[in-house]
Amino acid sequence: MSFTVAIVGRPNVGKSTLFNRLAGRRLALVDDQPGLTRDRREAETEIGTCEVTLVDTAGLEPGDTGLTARMREQTEAAIAQADLVLFLIDARAGVIASDEIFAELVRSSGKPVVLAANKCEGRAAEAGLYEAFALGLGEPLPISAEHGLGIGDVSVAIEDACLAKGEGQESGQGAEADAEADEGPHALRIAIVGRPNVGKSTLVNALLGEERMITGPEAGITRDAIASEIDWDGRPLRVFDTAGLRKKARVEGKAEELSVGDTLKAIRFAEVVVLLLDAETPFEKQDLQIAALIAQEGRALVIAVNKWDLVREREKRLNELREACERLLPQVRGVALVTVSAKSGKGIDKLMKAVLAADEVWNRRMPTHALNQWLAAALEAHPPPARSGRRIKLRYMTQANARPPTFVVFCSLPKALPDSYSRYLVNGLRESFDLPGVPIRLNLRKGK
Ligand code: GDP
Ligand code: GDP
Repeated sequence: MSFTVAIVGRPNVGKSTLFNRLAGRRLALVDDQPGLTRDRREAETEIGTCEVTLVDTAGLEPGDTGLTARMREQTEAAIAQADLVLFLIDARAGVIASDEIFAELVRSSGKPVVLAANKCEGRAAEAGLYEAFALGLGEPLPISAEHGLGIGDVSVAIEDACLAKGEGQESGQGAEADAEADEGPHALRIAIVGRPNVGKSTLVNALLGEERMITGPEAGITRDAIASEIDWDGRPLRVFDTAGLRKKARVEGKAEELSVGDTLKAIRFAEVVVLLLDAETPFEKQDLQIAALIAQEGRALVIAVNKWDLVREREKRLNELREACERLLPQVRGVALVTVSAKSGKGIDKLMKAVLAADEVWNRRMPTHALNQWLAAALEAHPPPARSGRRIKLRYMTQANARPPTFVVFCSLPKALPDSYSRYLVNGLRESFDLPGVPIRLNLRKGK
């Protein structure tokens, strides 16, 4: 099956021009008149090593007042059918209201997206490129469809997304993601990871319910799906089952222990990762390595301390654990730490509440004006250092992405800004905007 890329954006940003570029055709039907009606077009093409179906959504009649119902329907249909959305803005015009409306359609679809700022062939486009960061669709690629600039970067981004989907399919995730697109509410993807014997299987079974309990090695054969669907108080969840993976490995005669690769697979699958610790041996080196991996992959994290039934002097122990957590895992400061007993089911309700809360933080978006107000205050409270007599200037901040929260700051000398200053900003953002327990990305860009 080929990989479908829908080119989406308001009229006149250059979708058809880019379509023709990528499709490798010159039969340009572009015209200086905005709003030329065209049929929706599709083209099969090869990008890198991938077979790609390109969909152009340009055949839409723009209404002067933004988005007509037909335009919305067409765009939504194209997005639903797509594996990847290529979202285009016109960097010369900057980000205008109708770009925001289209961007919201893309964001709410949850589809992977590549953002490109078109018409970047001259300096006139610079301001628009900065505004594009604030759309919350990731970092924009500057391109010129007409002049063929930056098209290689777009191709690489498409190929990366295509290959990532291929990897997902191997482990059965691609098909599930497709099913997800067709069916109503989004199932929250959760992975439970941890060292051997901390109680992962026990917890998964407690979540899935007794009837789905797997006993005996033969069960691994019949269970092909790696993720199990459950319903938690009306909220659909999909739990990645590393325990299932391990059983399968045992049946196939492979080593029983989970490899780092399996853990990584689970982490990449998930939106929220539950790191399970053993209350009797918490925060061992391997626990910390897994936590670092989760933060590095940008996932929301909840720490569950299992076998709490075995613990005495619980209050004292809990304080010790909280203290250890803040000290050992500064990159996810404020992370929820929940005590459970997977065996008895105690604390699982509390754990699931923490999971949903972590997901909320992970998805949160901060308004640009609030960020810049905050930045001004942060700079005043603690000005950035100078380098060879010149003060490093930070001028503008915006949230370029969620999942995890990702901020971009434009800086006069980005390479010269010490890491300690970036940490100061990240810690401040976490405090002021209440972002506990998620990795926060801060990217410095030269500019303005
Ligand atoms: P669509 O409505 O989004 O499909 O936009 P079109 O592809 O029809 O392009 C709209 C207008 O923008 C046309 O006049 C194009 O020639 C022009 N255009 C497209 N790409 C570029 C570019 O990279 N730079 C400049 N300056 N103009 C472009
Ligand atoms: P996994 O390797 O992480 O999947 O761990 P298992 O789920 O296989 O559990 C390892 C051992 O810990 C088993 O003997 C379980 O019965 C035990 N165990 C799991 N959860 C609890 C718990 O909440 N309390 C106690 N006391 N033992 C538990």
